[in-house]
Amino acid sequence: MRKTDHRRIARAICCHLGLDGEISNALIKGSIQPDLEREQFERHHSGRDATILSRLRSARTQHLKQNDSQAARSLGYALHFVQDKCSPGASFSGHDELERELARSRNWDYSLTYSPSCNIRRYRDVVDTVRGIEASADIDAIKEKAVTTSFLLAEAVLSTYPPPNDLHEQVRQIRRQHFTTAIPGACALGGVAATLVFFGVRILLMGLLTTATAGCAWFLAAITFCCVVRSLAGSDTEYNDSRHELAWFEVKLPSDIE
Ligand SMILES: [Zn+2]
Repeated sequence: MRKTDHRRIARAICCHLGLDGEISNALIKGSIQPDLEREQFERHHSGRDATILSRLRSARTQHLKQNDSQAARSLGYALHFVQDKCSPGASFSGHDELERELARSRNWDYSLTYSPSCNIRRYRDVVDTVRGIEASADIDAIKEKAVTTSFLLAEAVLSTYPPPNDLHEQVRQIRRQHFTTAIPGACALGGVAATLVFFGVRILLMGLLTTATAGCAWFLAAITFCCVVRSLAGSDTEYNDSRHELAWFEVKLPSDIE
């Protein structure tokens, strides 16, 4: 998507949310920043979900701290990738032509985003929304998707609303699952990997069995164990998302859950 279109969606969001001049400028600047930073011909229409989500979280944190200009800047940055994700960018020439056609298009409709049923508030809904964006080669579909998704995410980040009533209970269940299943499973697999590494090293160094080589085998096995546990436990996305969900609502866990 061209800068003209990123700017026009950002302006419509500012209007819709009634943002003041400084915050509006920050949102518009953030919306074009990724194109100013990228290398010539570097495409960024896909594979940016982690960046989008991290910028949205950062925007939400800044909003909760009442740093709304910084929040708007981060939000704009995230929305740039959201909007680009709506169009294919598969081949450079095709993408360019599609973008030119989009920029020439006049009938942008912002009214479709006013449906109250479209509201998203929870962080996990934000994640589903971002991951669920599919590129389209149809101009009208791109416009509708880019506008609707951008409005929804902007509202989710910059609005104030109470946390859901069942938030603590859900987090409690996810944490229980994490500590009773994910961590023990990661430790078991880490133990198997460490044992294989330990005996593998001992076999390789069969002719050099000294205290130093045994120490080396133990050391490598311990490193393997830590890496496997860290990587498997860290990839529990439901647990990680639940932590982000708490931060999204600026909620602390009660002491019986921590
Ligand atoms: Zn771009």
